[in-house]
Amino acid sequence: MAQKPKPDKIEKPVVKPAAVKPAERPFTVQSYVEFLNQKKLMGAKCKDCGHINLPPRIVCAKCYKGNMEWVEVPGKGKLASFSTIYIGSSFMNAKGYSPKKPYCFGTVDLDAGVSISGHVKGVNELDADSIKIGTRLKVAYEDGKETFIDRSGNKQERPKVFLTFIPE
Ligand SMILES: [Zn+2]
Repeated sequence: MAQKPKPDKIEKPVVKPAAVKPAERPFTVQSYVEFLNQKKLMGAKCKDCGHINLPPRIVCAKCYKGNMEWVEVPGKGKLASFSTIYIGSSFMNAKGYSPKKPYCFGTVDLDAGVSISGHVKGVNELDADSIKIGTRLKVAYEDGKETFIDRSGNKQERPKVFLTFIPE
């Protein structure tokens, strides 16, 4: 049921992703997540120094200037570090992970020269010694759901794409 907006609250305009070109999107984590939901790994490339900021930032992490453009980052690289997680978040527990079924969370040095963290699948989580630093990985987008609280305070679900990596 539609509720009257409270007079002290200003409704934010709804921006429809399909109607917005990448160049017009703000360089925020929210934009990054919206691109991920379209199965695109997008970063903010600094027009001044060339550094790719991933996740995107308004200000370049390298030269501190704010002259950005969107680039699609090729999702291939090498495993740089990882943890096998036995006591995970409630979110991961809900996906079926537990002390008996741990998951691997890693940082990947992408060939594009930036690093990003994500769930690493297709490895033997129960034998951490078998997971090798330097293993070639590629991005794999996992369809899932997330819960959120709507404006009326009700718990809702919506589709969400999660960044994962698998051996190349
Ligand atoms: Zn820069």
